[in-house]
Amino acid sequence: MKYHIIAFGCQMNISDSERVSTILEKLKYKKTSNINEANLIVVVMCSVRQSAVDRVHGLAHKFKKLNPKIKTILTGCVLQKDRKKFENSFDYVIDIKNISELFKIARQQVSQDPRRRASMAAAKRRGAPRTEQVRAGGRSVSAETWLPSSYLDITPKYSNKFSATVPIMTGCNNFCSYCVVPYTRGREISRPAKEIICEIKNLVKNDYKEIWLLGQNVNSYKDGKTNFPKLLKMVNNIPGNFTLCFITSHPKDFSDELIKTMKNCKKLSKRLNLPIQSGDDEILKKMNRPYTVAQYKTLVKKIRKAIPDISLSTDIIVGFCGETKKQFQNTVKTLKEIGFDMAFVNKYSPRAGTAAAKMEDNVPWAEKKRREKVLIELINEK
Ligand code: SAM
Ligand code: SF4
Repeated sequence: MKYHIIAFGCQMNISDSERVSTILEKLKYKKTSNINEANLIVVVMCSVRQSAVDRVHGLAHKFKKLNPKIKTILTGCVLQKDRKKFENSFDYVIDIKNISELFKIARQQVSQDPRRRASMAAAKRRGAPRTEQVRAGGRSVSAETWLPSSYLDITPKYSNKFSATVPIMTGCNNFCSYCVVPYTRGREISRPAKEIICEIKNLVKNDYKEIWLLGQNVNSYKDGKTNFPKLLKMVNNIPGNFTLCFITSHPKDFSDELIKTMKNCKKLSKRLNLPIQSGDDEILKKMNRPYTVAQYKTLVKKIRKAIPDISLSTDIIVGFCGETKKQFQNTVKTLKEIGFDMAFVNKYSPRAGTAAAKMEDNVPWAEKKRREKVLIELINEK
């Protein structure tokens, strides 16, 4: 049996897809990059913008046209309101945290495979175990015994041999008014520091040179007495030659302790992504981003003073509900003043169920595109 996997969106989705791969490969599926060869297709989707959702709708039809017998699974960030529609086009829609469901479905497909049925029948005749066996900890165990209860406990099938992503938390408690993440991924859950360190030690032992700590808001990480700066120190102290990076951090949780730790951690990369989202205080308030432009600038000043060679990038949304030309000009001005090395510019896309969905999306699409172009040109001038 062969599977093909497609992950859209952020690094978190790519990291999730690596855990999906582990499950499928434990059940002896083989990965294929050729859709035409696959028995099973898994799509790890992103719902942050409508354009990403539309792309997945188109895909589901394409798969079935290609091969009506192919089984399709949709997982990742799926909004409740889209679920029903996707249930009509995909065979299964599952919550990424409900990994046991993915396991059951994949296993059911395997058991229906004629070749696998024949090999199980032969095993039965030999008196070998009749349940699916997987290798774990150097021995053969029944697949059910192996399955961890939390999906983050699954050792991922890393998709890169040099750089690895390690989720340190899932979910988000911030409820920025435009964002689906707290609805699709739920509230923040931090992973035990012990497990994170164990995973990274293993990666370093296997010669990984770049480790990314992942979370929607890494700097609110908390496991008992271990906060994010303490976790950074612990990872930095792991012997070996590697670079440590993290994404994404929220300006409101960027403490002095974190800045001091970043300055002292020699393995830490000098690249930092610090989303500002808007350069206008009124828009920031409507976005439920609890800082002002002046506070953000003060924070950047402190970071640059402590780490003068830091390379700073940011995320910005243009055309948010009610954003006037003057408010947009405030963003242009802020960007010029701060002088980011890079900016990821997004046109506001209304998302059902969020607080902003109740506000009027009154900036025309063409104007959003114009504002996006202005900011991209500004960044490229650097
Ligand atoms: N947690 C991060 C933070 O605090 O900014 C960002 C995570 S979010 C999934 C990634 C980026 O998508 C955001 O920084 C934002 O710029 C963009 N984004 C989120 N919701 C959006 C929406 N409804 N429309 C356009 N862009 C959006
Ligand atoms: Fe979304 Fe805001 Fe959470 Fe980032 S901090 S994931 S933008 S709600």
